[in-house]
Amino acid sequence: MISFDFEYFKPTSIKEAIRLYHELDEQGKKPMYFSGGTELITLGRVNQLETKAVIDIKSIPECLVLKKDATRVTLGAVQSLNKIREQKLFPFLDKVIVEIADHTARNKITLGGNLCANIIYRETILPLLLTNSQVVIASQTGIKELPITEVFNQTLKLEKGEFLVQTITENKEIDLPSLSVKKRRQWDVGYPLITVAALLKKGKIKVAISGLCEFPFRDPQIEECLNNQQVSKESRIKEAMDQISHPILDDVHGSAEYRLFVLKNTLEDILDALEGAKHV
Ligand SMILES: Cc1cc2nc3c(=O)[nH]c(=O)nc-3n(C[C@H](O)[C@H](O)[C@H](O)COP(=O)(O)OP(=O)(O)OC[C@H]3O[C@@H](n4cnc5c(N)ncnc54)[C@H](O)[C@@H]3O)c2cc1C
Repeated sequence: MISFDFEYFKPTSIKEAIRLYHELDEQGKKPMYFSGGTELITLGRVNQLETKAVIDIKSIPECLVLKKDATRVTLGAVQSLNKIREQKLFPFLDKVIVEIADHTARNKITLGGNLCANIIYRETILPLLLTNSQVVIASQTGIKELPITEVFNQTLKLEKGEFLVQTITENKEIDLPSLSVKKRRQWDVGYPLITVAALLKKGKIKVAISGLCEFPFRDPQIEECLNNQQVSKESRIKEAMDQISHPILDDVHGSAEYRLFVLKNTLEDILDALEGAKHV
Protein backbone atom coordinates (compact mmCIF):
# COMPACT_ATOMS: atom_id res chain seq x y z
CA MET A 1 0.00 0.00 0.00
CA ILE A 2 1.15 3.53 -0.74
CA SER A 3 0.99 5.45 2.54
CA PHE A 4 0.71 8.98 1.10
CA ASP A 5 -1.96 10.78 -0.94
CA PHE A 6 -1.14 12.44 -4.23
CA GLU A 7 -2.96 14.36 -6.94
CA TYR A 8 -3.05 12.89 -10.45
CA PHE A 9 -2.80 14.95 -13.66
CA LYS A 10 -2.96 13.72 -17.25
CA PRO A 11 -1.96 16.51 -19.66
CA THR A 12 -2.45 16.06 -23.40
CA SER A 13 0.35 18.32 -24.61
CA ILE A 14 4.01 18.90 -23.84
CA LYS A 15 3.35 22.56 -23.02
CA GLU A 16 0.64 21.67 -20.49
CA ALA A 17 2.85 19.05 -18.82
CA ILE A 18 5.74 21.48 -18.40
CA ARG A 19 3.42 24.23 -17.11
CA LEU A 20 1.83 21.81 -14.63
CA TYR A 21 5.22 20.64 -13.37
CA HIS A 22 6.41 24.15 -12.57
CA GLU A 23 3.09 25.23 -11.00
CA LEU A 24 3.00 22.15 -8.77
CA ASP A 25 6.66 22.59 -7.89
CA GLU A 26 6.01 26.18 -6.80
CA GLN A 27 3.22 24.85 -4.57
CA GLY A 28 5.80 22.58 -2.89
CA LYS A 29 4.17 19.37 -4.19
CA LYS A 30 7.40 17.73 -5.41
CA PRO A 31 5.77 16.69 -8.69
CA MET A 32 7.04 13.68 -10.62
CA TYR A 33 6.44 12.55 -14.17
CA PHE A 34 4.66 9.24 -14.43
CA SER A 35 5.07 6.82 -17.29
CA GLY A 36 4.56 3.10 -16.53
CA GLY A 37 4.23 4.04 -12.86
CA THR A 38 5.94 0.91 -11.55
CA GLU A 39 8.46 2.84 -9.46
CA LEU A 40 5.73 4.80 -7.71
CA ILE A 41 4.32 1.44 -6.64
CA THR A 42 7.58 -0.37 -5.80
CA LEU A 43 9.49 2.54 -4.21
CA GLY A 44 6.40 4.43 -2.96
CA ARG A 45 5.31 1.39 -0.96
CA VAL A 46 8.59 1.31 0.98
CA ASN A 47 8.75 5.11 1.37
CA GLN A 48 11.81 5.50 -0.84
CA LEU A 49 9.89 7.90 -3.04
CA GLU A 50 7.26 10.46 -2.11
CA THR A 51 5.28 13.02 -4.08
CA LYS A 52 2.10 15.04 -3.69
CA ALA A 53 1.43 15.19 -7.46
CA VAL A 54 2.07 12.90 -10.40
CA ILE A 55 1.95 14.05 -14.01
CA ASP A 56 1.02 11.15 -16.28
CA ILE A 57 2.57 11.87 -19.70
CA LYS A 58 1.02 8.88 -21.48
CA SER A 59 -1.53 11.00 -23.40
CA ILE A 60 1.02 13.29 -25.01
CA PRO A 61 1.05 12.39 -28.74
CA GLU A 62 4.79 13.05 -29.27
CA CYS A 63 5.61 10.61 -26.45
CA LEU A 64 3.62 7.87 -28.21
CA VAL A 65 5.33 7.97 -31.61
CA LEU A 66 6.76 4.67 -32.89
CA LYS A 67 8.04 4.92 -36.44
CA LYS A 68 10.76 4.13 -38.91
CA ASP A 69 11.26 6.45 -41.88
CA ALA A 70 13.89 6.50 -44.62
CA THR A 71 16.73 7.47 -42.29
CA ARG A 72 15.83 6.86 -38.66
CA VAL A 73 13.77 5.14 -35.99
CA THR A 74 11.84 7.23 -33.47
CA LEU A 75 10.61 5.67 -30.22
CA GLY A 76 8.18 7.49 -27.92
CA ALA A 77 9.25 7.50 -24.26
CA VAL A 78 5.89 6.32 -22.88
CA GLN A 79 5.61 3.19 -25.02
CA SER A 80 5.86 -0.03 -23.05
CA LEU A 81 8.87 -2.28 -23.57
CA ASN A 82 6.59 -4.98 -25.01
CA LYS A 83 4.98 -2.61 -27.52
CA ILE A 84 8.38 -1.43 -28.71
CA ARG A 85 9.61 -5.00 -29.11
CA GLU A 86 6.47 -6.05 -31.00
CA GLN A 87 7.15 -3.36 -33.64
CA LYS A 88 10.60 -4.88 -34.42
CA LEU A 89 12.02 -1.45 -35.34
CA PHE A 90 15.28 -1.76 -33.40
CA PRO A 91 16.45 -5.40 -33.08
CA PHE A 92 19.47 -4.55 -30.85
CA LEU A 93 17.22 -2.76 -28.35
CA ASP A 94 14.76 -5.67 -28.56
CA LYS A 95 17.53 -8.10 -27.50
CA VAL A 96 18.01 -6.04 -24.31
CA ILE A 97 14.28 -5.52 -23.69
CA VAL A 98 13.39 -9.22 -23.79
CA GLU A 99 15.70 -9.83 -20.81
CA ILE A 100 14.24 -7.05 -18.61
CA ALA A 101 11.80 -8.22 -15.91
CA ASP A 102 9.08 -10.62 -17.13
CA HIS A 103 6.46 -10.29 -19.87
CA THR A 104 3.76 -8.97 -17.52
CA ALA A 105 6.01 -6.27 -16.03
CA ARG A 106 7.19 -5.28 -19.52
CA ASN A 107 3.56 -4.45 -20.40
CA LYS A 108 3.85 -1.66 -17.82
CA ILE A 109 7.53 -0.64 -17.86
CA THR A 110 8.15 2.04 -20.48
CA LEU A 111 11.26 3.08 -22.37
CA GLY A 112 11.38 6.51 -20.70
CA GLY A 113 10.72 5.02 -17.27
CA ASN A 114 13.58 2.56 -17.66
CA LEU A 115 15.98 5.22 -18.95
CA CYS A 116 15.09 7.64 -16.13
CA ALA A 117 14.67 4.98 -13.44
CA ASN A 118 15.90 5.41 -9.89
CA ILE A 119 17.04 1.77 -9.86
CA ILE A 120 20.61 1.43 -11.04
CA TYR A 121 20.34 -0.91 -14.05
CA ARG A 122 18.56 1.16 -16.72
CA GLU A 123 19.49 -1.51 -19.25
CA THR A 124 17.80 0.09 -22.29
CA ILE A 125 20.48 2.79 -22.24
CA LEU A 126 23.09 0.26 -23.43
CA PRO A 127 22.07 -0.07 -27.12
CA LEU A 128 21.22 3.63 -27.29
CA LEU A 129 24.73 4.58 -26.09
CA LEU A 130 26.35 2.26 -28.64
CA THR A 131 24.32 3.48 -31.62
CA ASN A 132 24.97 7.22 -31.12
CA SER A 133 21.25 7.77 -30.58
CA GLN A 134 19.65 11.15 -29.91
CA VAL A 135 17.23 12.09 -27.17
CA VAL A 136 14.35 14.51 -27.57
CA ILE A 137 13.79 16.45 -24.35
CA ALA A 138 10.93 18.77 -23.44
CA SER A 139 11.87 21.81 -21.37
CA GLN A 140 10.44 25.19 -20.39
CA THR A 141 12.23 26.76 -23.37
CA GLY A 142 10.95 24.22 -25.91
CA ILE A 143 12.08 20.94 -27.43
CA LYS A 144 15.73 19.99 -27.80
CA GLU A 145 17.35 17.09 -29.62
CA LEU A 146 20.75 16.06 -28.25
CA PRO A 147 23.19 13.15 -28.65
CA ILE A 148 22.55 10.70 -25.83
CA THR A 149 26.27 10.57 -25.08
CA GLU A 150 26.08 14.29 -24.18
CA VAL A 151 23.11 13.88 -21.86
CA PHE A 152 23.89 10.55 -20.24
CA ASN A 153 26.55 10.38 -17.56
CA GLN A 154 25.63 7.66 -15.06
CA THR A 155 22.03 8.92 -15.33
CA LEU A 156 20.12 10.94 -17.90
CA LYS A 157 21.00 14.50 -16.89
CA LEU A 158 17.66 16.28 -17.17
CA GLU A 159 17.15 19.77 -15.73
CA LYS A 160 14.39 20.24 -13.19
CA GLY A 161 10.99 19.93 -14.90
CA GLU A 162 12.37 18.48 -18.14
CA PHE A 163 11.16 15.15 -19.48
CA LEU A 164 12.19 12.68 -22.14
CA VAL A 165 9.89 12.66 -25.17
CA GLN A 166 11.58 10.33 -27.66
CA THR A 167 14.77 8.56 -28.66
CA ILE A 168 16.00 8.70 -32.25
CA THR A 169 18.42 6.28 -33.90
CA GLU A 170 19.82 6.31 -37.44
CA ASN A 171 18.90 3.26 -39.55
CA LYS A 172 22.53 2.77 -40.51
CA GLU A 173 23.40 2.16 -36.83
CA ILE A 174 20.45 -0.15 -36.29
CA ASP A 175 21.54 -2.61 -38.97
CA LEU A 176 25.03 -3.23 -37.47
CA PRO A 177 25.89 -6.65 -35.94
CA SER A 178 25.12 -6.61 -32.22
CA LEU A 179 24.46 -8.76 -29.20
CA SER A 180 23.49 -8.45 -25.57
CA VAL A 181 24.50 -10.90 -22.86
CA LYS A 182 22.73 -10.76 -19.50
CA LYS A 183 24.01 -12.86 -16.61
CA ARG A 184 21.90 -13.32 -13.49
CA ARG A 185 22.80 -14.97 -10.22
CA GLN A 186 19.68 -17.10 -10.39
CA TRP A 187 16.23 -17.39 -12.07
CA ASP A 188 15.44 -16.52 -15.65
CA VAL A 189 14.00 -13.05 -15.00
CA GLY A 190 14.98 -10.05 -12.94
CA TYR A 191 17.89 -7.79 -12.28
CA PRO A 192 21.27 -8.52 -13.82
CA LEU A 193 24.49 -9.56 -12.16
CA ILE A 194 25.91 -7.94 -15.25
CA THR A 195 24.63 -7.13 -18.73
CA VAL A 196 27.04 -6.40 -21.55
CA ALA A 197 25.74 -5.07 -24.86
CA ALA A 198 28.10 -4.98 -27.83
CA LEU A 199 28.11 -3.66 -31.38
CA LEU A 200 30.52 -4.17 -34.27
CA LYS A 201 31.11 -1.04 -36.35
CA LYS A 202 33.80 -0.69 -39.03
CA GLY A 203 35.65 -3.68 -37.60
CA LYS A 204 35.71 -2.24 -34.05
CA ILE A 205 33.81 -3.62 -31.08
CA LYS A 206 31.95 -1.20 -28.83
CA VAL A 207 30.62 -2.28 -25.43
CA ALA A 208 28.35 -0.85 -22.72
CA ILE A 209 27.83 -2.45 -19.32
CA SER A 210 25.08 -2.46 -16.69
CA GLY A 211 25.10 -4.10 -13.25
CA LEU A 212 28.86 -3.98 -12.73
CA CYS A 213 28.93 -0.57 -11.03
CA GLU A 214 26.29 1.72 -9.50
CA PHE A 215 25.26 2.87 -13.00
CA PRO A 216 25.42 1.72 -16.62
CA PHE A 217 28.36 3.04 -18.64
CA ARG A 218 30.36 2.96 -21.83
CA ASP A 219 34.10 3.68 -21.71
CA PRO A 220 36.20 4.40 -24.86
CA GLN A 221 39.38 3.24 -23.09
CA ILE A 222 37.87 -0.18 -22.44
CA GLU A 223 36.94 -0.39 -26.11
CA GLU A 224 40.43 0.68 -27.21
CA CYS A 225 41.99 -2.18 -25.23
CA LEU A 226 39.45 -4.72 -26.49
CA ASN A 227 40.21 -3.73 -30.07
CA ASN A 228 44.01 -3.87 -29.73
CA GLN A 229 44.85 -6.66 -32.17
CA GLN A 230 48.59 -6.44 -31.31
CA VAL A 231 48.18 -8.61 -28.21
CA SER A 232 46.43 -11.88 -27.34
CA LYS A 233 42.72 -12.09 -26.61
CA GLU A 234 43.46 -12.74 -22.91
CA SER A 235 45.66 -9.61 -22.69
CA ARG A 236 43.06 -7.49 -24.50
CA ILE A 237 40.43 -8.50 -21.95
CA LYS A 238 42.75 -8.06 -18.96
CA GLU A 239 43.85 -4.62 -20.12
CA ALA A 240 40.24 -3.63 -20.82
CA MET A 241 39.21 -4.69 -17.32
CA ASP A 242 42.14 -2.77 -15.81
CA GLN A 243 40.55 0.40 -17.24
CA ILE A 244 37.42 0.12 -15.08
CA SER A 245 37.70 3.17 -12.88
CA HIS A 246 34.52 2.91 -10.79
CA PRO A 247 33.94 0.74 -7.69
CA ILE A 248 32.55 -2.69 -8.54
CA LEU A 249 29.21 -3.59 -6.91
CA ASP A 250 29.53 -6.01 -4.04
CA ASP A 251 26.06 -7.01 -2.81
CA VAL A 252 23.63 -9.87 -2.24
CA HIS A 253 23.45 -10.54 -5.98
CA GLY A 254 27.19 -11.14 -6.22
CA SER A 255 30.58 -10.14 -4.79
CA ALA A 256 32.82 -7.74 -6.70
CA GLU A 257 35.23 -10.62 -7.36
CA TYR A 258 32.46 -12.81 -8.80
CA ARG A 259 31.15 -9.98 -10.99
CA LEU A 260 34.65 -9.47 -12.47
CA PHE A 261 34.95 -13.20 -13.11
CA VAL A 262 31.61 -13.19 -14.93
CA LEU A 263 32.58 -10.06 -16.88
CA LYS A 264 35.82 -11.66 -18.06
CA ASN A 265 33.98 -14.72 -19.40
CA THR A 266 31.28 -12.56 -20.96
CA LEU A 267 33.83 -10.41 -22.79
CA GLU A 268 35.50 -13.57 -24.10
CA ASP A 269 32.15 -14.76 -25.48
CA ILE A 270 31.48 -11.36 -27.03
CA LEU A 271 34.85 -11.19 -28.79
CA ASP A 272 34.35 -14.73 -30.12
CA ALA A 273 30.85 -13.96 -31.34
CA LEU A 274 31.47 -10.56 -32.94
CA GLU A 275 34.90 -11.31 -34.39
CA GLY A 276 33.87 -14.73 -35.58
CA ALA A 277 30.58 -13.77 -37.19
CA LYS A 278 29.55 -11.05 -39.58
CA HIS A 279 25.99 -11.02 -38.26
CA VAL A 280 24.85 -12.05 -34.81
C1 LIG B 1 9.35 -6.72 -11.62
C2 LIG B 1 10.36 -5.73 -12.12
C3 LIG B 1 11.55 -6.20 -12.68
C4 LIG B 1 12.48 -5.29 -13.18
N1 LIG B 1 13.63 -5.76 -13.81
C5 LIG B 1 14.49 -4.89 -14.38
C6 LIG B 1 15.63 -5.33 -15.11
O1 LIG B 1 15.91 -6.51 -15.21
N2 LIG B 1 16.43 -4.38 -15.68
C7 LIG B 1 16.17 -3.04 -15.59
O2 LIG B 1 16.90 -2.24 -16.16
N3 LIG B 1 15.10 -2.60 -14.89
C8 LIG B 1 14.26 -3.47 -14.30
N4 LIG B 1 13.17 -3.01 -13.60
C9 LIG B 1 13.09 -1.58 -13.30
C10 LIG B 1 12.23 -0.79 -14.22
O3 LIG B 1 12.71 -0.81 -15.53
C11 LIG B 1 12.26 0.64 -13.70
O4 LIG B 1 11.79 0.66 -12.39
C12 LIG B 1 11.49 1.63 -14.54
O5 LIG B 1 11.53 2.88 -13.93
C13 LIG B 1 10.06 1.35 -14.65
O6 LIG B 1 9.52 2.04 -15.75
P1 LIG B 1 8.15 2.82 -15.62
O7 LIG B 1 7.76 3.12 -17.01
O8 LIG B 1 7.18 2.08 -14.78
O9 LIG B 1 8.68 4.12 -14.90
P2 LIG B 1 7.94 5.09 -13.86
O10 LIG B 1 7.74 4.34 -12.59
O11 LIG B 1 6.77 5.74 -14.46
O12 LIG B 1 9.08 6.20 -13.69
C14 LIG B 1 10.32 5.87 -13.13
C15 LIG B 1 11.10 7.17 -12.88
O13 LIG B 1 11.42 7.78 -14.11
C16 LIG B 1 10.79 9.06 -14.23
N5 LIG B 1 10.30 9.14 -15.58
C17 LIG B 1 9.46 8.28 -16.21
N6 LIG B 1 9.30 8.63 -17.49
C18 LIG B 1 10.03 9.75 -17.68
C19 LIG B 1 10.26 10.59 -18.79
N7 LIG B 1 9.71 10.36 -20.00
N8 LIG B 1 11.08 11.67 -18.65
C20 LIG B 1 11.64 11.92 -17.44
N9 LIG B 1 11.47 11.17 -16.34
C21 LIG B 1 10.67 10.09 -16.47
C22 LIG B 1 9.70 9.08 -13.17
O14 LIG B 1 9.42 10.39 -12.73
C23 LIG B 1 10.30 8.20 -12.09
O15 LIG B 1 11.21 8.94 -11.32
C24 LIG B 1 12.24 -3.90 -13.08
C25 LIG B 1 11.06 -3.43 -12.48
C26 LIG B 1 10.12 -4.33 -12.02
C27 LIG B 1 8.85 -3.80 -11.41
